[in-house]
Amino acid sequence: MDLTDRLSAEIRSRRESLIALTQDLIRIPTLNPPGLHYREICDYLSDRLSAQGFVTALVRAEGAPGDSEAHPRWNLVARREGAAPGDCVHFNSHHDVVEVGHGWTRDPFGGALEDDGQNGGRIYGRGACDMKGGLAASIIAAEAFLAVCPAFRGAIEISATADEESGGFGGVAYLAQQGWFDPDRVQHVIIPEPLHKDRICLGHRGVWWAEVETKGRIAHGSMPFLGDSAIRHMGAVLEEVEHSLYPLLATKRTAMPVVPEGARQSTLNINSIHGGEAEPEPGYTGLPAPCVADRCRIILDRRFLIEEDIAEVKAEVTGLLDGLKVRRAGFDYDIRDLFEVQPVMTDREAPVVRSTAAAIERVLGRVADYVVSPGTYDQKHIDRIGRLKNCIAYGPGLLHLAHQPDEWVGVQDMEDSALVMALVLADLLAA
Ligand SMILES: [Zn+2]
Repeated sequence: MDLTDRLSAEIRSRRESLIALTQDLIRIPTLNPPGLHYREICDYLSDRLSAQGFVTALVRAEGAPGDSEAHPRWNLVARREGAAPGDCVHFNSHHDVVEVGHGWTRDPFGGALEDDGQNGGRIYGRGACDMKGGLAASIIAAEAFLAVCPAFRGAIEISATADEESGGFGGVAYLAQQGWFDPDRVQHVIIPEPLHKDRICLGHRGVWWAEVETKGRIAHGSMPFLGDSAIRHMGAVLEEVEHSLYPLLATKRTAMPVVPEGARQSTLNINSIHGGEAEPEPGYTGLPAPCVADRCRIILDRRFLIEEDIAEVKAEVTGLLDGLKVRRAGFDYDIRDLFEVQPVMTDREAPVVRSTAAAIERVLGRVADYVVSPGTYDQKHIDRIGRLKNCIAYGPGLLHLAHQPDEWVGVQDMEDSALVMALVLADLLAA
């Protein structure tokens, strides 16, 4: 038997274990917000990995956004040293899941296994594909690799981290700040997000969130000429955005292989708009007061390309607002940065990319697809804070099922991607 066959046999022999592990992880409802059962899932994984010879560290992101005594942000990092010095391959999964939402026909935390006539069955539950299935696959990959190649060089790390769904500040960002992703201790990172077993995700577009507020002057609604409506000023902003900014963004195309195709250009979403007096509490039966709005706010969500500079992205918006200030009587505004992330894209020639591409071809008999995510994930922190460029997302599951009701992951997909991950370990940590 060659190495692929031996690893494949080890993974197949662990099918029951892979299913049970995935189900156990789903049954710990690590909902974020607010951040429930983080310690429980870290303890569970720590026990599992310690039994395989991993040295485990429980790290609380003390003082990080969201961390509190009621909802501590716990992370687990497990490391297994090889027989000789060499590179470290790190699998990073977030252990948090998003709210359940409506529309489920199964228990979201039941982890039910159902036969679908193919694919080895499906496991259902919140977090099944995003990304407890990927986490389970990486653990099985490591266990199979250790059984076949006990005398490997270097080290394997597996982490389960908090808060990816809310920015990762109590998770990967915190660990990166503490040096856990420094290039002198970790050389290759795979994030088993549900990008599908034949796709390598090289990175993501950039993000800029900003709040724009237009100013007005309050007056009685029956005499609006005595005031100045911030809502009308915001209307002028939106008209400018519609007539000049959106057409400009549509002309900005990227060479990044972003999927879906519609995200291969600059995009802008207006996440919310609030103007005038606050909306009444639900159940309040009175009428609103007649007032001219003295303030109106929108939240902009601008996604930008690796070819764009963030200063330019911001200048497009401030330029538009400054133009209105010149042309429109009484117009004044404030703008506030809320959040920004630089785009990242790992080179196709990076070792972890080449190794994963070769393994995909070997296991699936087809050439890997290279993709870039329209939204961000924890790679941003590994890249920027950890300064580690050799990082991809690769894992089982279908991205469009993430955050949906009746989320599931296919058992065969998990096995296939576990074999890909095990082959990557064999390639990068060969004795
Ligand atoms: Zn995810």
